[in-house]
Amino acid sequence: MNTKVAGIDRRHFLRVGSALAVTTAAALTSRRASAQAAAKLDEKDAQAIGLGYRHDSTKVDKAKFPKHAATQACSNCQFYAGKASDPWGACPLFQGKQVNAKGWCSAWAKKA
Ligand code: SF4
Repeated sequence: MNTKVAGIDRRHFLRVGSALAVTTAAALTSRRASAQAAAKLDEKDAQAIGLGYRHDSTKVDKAKFPKHAATQACSNCQFYAGKASDPWGACPLFQGKQVNAKGWCSAWAKKA
């Protein structure tokens, strides 16, 4: 049976709809995969050392960074690109790497 609704062939409509659904799902999967593919920042990375980055904000060297406060963490830094609930997220200071939501570096700036 070939039903036409408003000039559109039903089978054609279903075929296009399915193709769009597959394309959208593939795009979302690809985006998720690339977000997950970003490596976690190594604390021994030269730039990480230079900025005093630690995965755990409570482990920051207080003598070296006296302005650091226990409440400061990547998750509440204006540069953190992850969601507040994400355990790891991107940071523009460390391109292509993910920083820990509980981490910290000396470039920390309060999220507005
Ligand atoms: Fe974390 Fe902010 Fe430093 Fe990036 S700039 S590593 S989000 S504290």
